[in-house]
Amino acid sequence: MRRANHDKVTAPNISPCGNCGEPMVPHRACPACGFYKGKQAVSGKKA
Ligand SMILES: [Zn+2]
Repeated sequence: MRRANHDKVTAPNISPCGNCGEPMVPHRACPACGFYKGKQAVSGKKA
C-alpha cells in the first residue's frame, strides 16, 4: 500500500485571516471570526 501522498494533504493553502489573523483556508469564511473577503460572511457575534 502506498500512502506517501497522505502526508501532504493537510493544508493546501492556509493564509492568515485579514481580520483576526487566524490561519484559515481561502475561499472559505474564517472559522474564528467569520470574515470572508474583507467582510463578515458568517453572522456570529455582532458588536
Ligand atoms: Zn478571522
